[in-house]
Amino acid sequence: MPDEVISNRCRNLHEACGVCGGYAEDQPLAFLTCFALYALQHRGQESAGIAAGPGDGRKMLLKRGLGLVSEVFPVSADLKGIVCKLAVGHVRYPYGSEGSSSLENTQPLKLRYRHGELVIAHNGHLLNSAGLREELERQGAIFQTDTDSELLAHMIARQGSSSLEESLAAVIPRLKGAFAFVISDGNRVIGLRDGFGFRPLSVASLEGNGYFLASETCAFDTIGASFIRDVEPGEMVILDENGLHSRQIIENSYPNLCIFEYIYFARPDSNLLGKNVHLVRKELGRRLAREHPVEADIVSGVPDSSIAAASGFAEEAGLPYEMALVKNRYIGRTFIKPTQKMREEGVDLKLNAVKKIVEGKRVVLVDDSIVRGTTSIKLIKIMRRAGAKEVHLRISSPPLIGSCYYGIDTPDPHELIAYQRDVMEIPKLIGADSIGYLNLEEVVAAIGLPASNFCRACFTGDYPQKA
Ligand code: SF4
Repeated sequence: MPDEVISNRCRNLHEACGVCGGYAEDQPLAFLTCFALYALQHRGQESAGIAAGPGDGRKMLLKRGLGLVSEVFPVSADLKGIVCKLAVGHVRYPYGSEGSSSLENTQPLKLRYRHGELVIAHNGHLLNSAGLREELERQGAIFQTDTDSELLAHMIARQGSSSLEESLAAVIPRLKGAFAFVISDGNRVIGLRDGFGFRPLSVASLEGNGYFLASETCAFDTIGASFIRDVEPGEMVILDENGLHSRQIIENSYPNLCIFEYIYFARPDSNLLGKNVHLVRKELGRRLAREHPVEADIVSGVPDSSIAAASGFAEEAGLPYEMALVKNRYIGRTFIKPTQKMREEGVDLKLNAVKKIVEGKRVVLVDDSIVRGTTSIKLIKIMRRAGAKEVHLRISSPPLIGSCYYGIDTPDPHELIAYQRDVMEIPKLIGADSIGYLNLEEVVAAIGLPASNFCRACFTGDYPQKA
């Protein structure tokens, strides 16, 4: 991306989609799904979509489009009138080969095969999609999209069984990588996770009757659903007229949830593996203050994901927490800086420092991660321009040294500022007075579960599954 063209996404790591869906009698399910998508909007802003059906295998309605949920469903009240027993929803951030922002790649995907309709929504990234795609193309398959959802649809169609459950049980073990799918054949809604559980998926009960699946538990709060449990790695959960039932379809599964969900991606009001994201981030900040103390006047966080860690840091260090940076939430998706001066000075239209707070102060600036370092350079320039005497960067995660192959859009390792570099060289490169990264053991301790529950590969280079 050229320097002067700035995405409205505040950071350099991006989540790759949010999924949801449910089955219920007498519930405004399309409407609820729309509200769940609003709650999952942070997981993808490129497109949104909902498929809904009467639950008897007949035609499912599909509406999807490019943009935010509020742009695709501007009059959500319209959805209230849709009579349906099942629905599937999706918000998308394009990943890797699925990178184009074209309408055909928006999800859920709806396809017809000999047993009826299939609707598929996917979060994650398949490691063996290129090989599987080639195999199918050799057999005559024609693909209309770049998505892993379409790949799965072809595999289901070729498997031959009229039972969606049986087809999935047969083909899912062939998939490698990260996936949380929500799928419907018009009679039921099925949620399933890969054998490592890289991407989150939970299930809740709806008031009155029915069940609902979502990538994050914050979606349940929004629609008044009661959390039941996380879908287990390798598990398939089926929601239909008989209620909720499940079966394990991938043997030797064990949890390897992406640890970045706690550090940055998930919403603070979500719980992952029973741990509240906000509280974990606050604890990350406390531990960071103990590991990397510094003489300073104020502590501030980079909005929004680092505010909890910054407040934990301030509490532990006995320093005042101040809102030194303000984020403008209303900048369009992409914009071009109009003048050379703005480009040269790294003026950021999304973030501004509060001069009266920062002027003459020694500031601890807490951020959740550093990817290439370009954002840090900008943030530190903003603070210095506002008159900060010193800027000490504190990062509530370890140095990033590897790319992610499991659905998080990260650059090539060579582009990561900490890749094969001594951490002590970084302050000079980004213009900070000092830097301190929280070590991985402390991150795990802050979550309060054994390290074996988490994927930590982009910090360690030790990948649980390779292509
Ligand atoms: Fe998450 Fe990093 Fe693992 Fe990717 S490699 S799933 S970003 S911990």
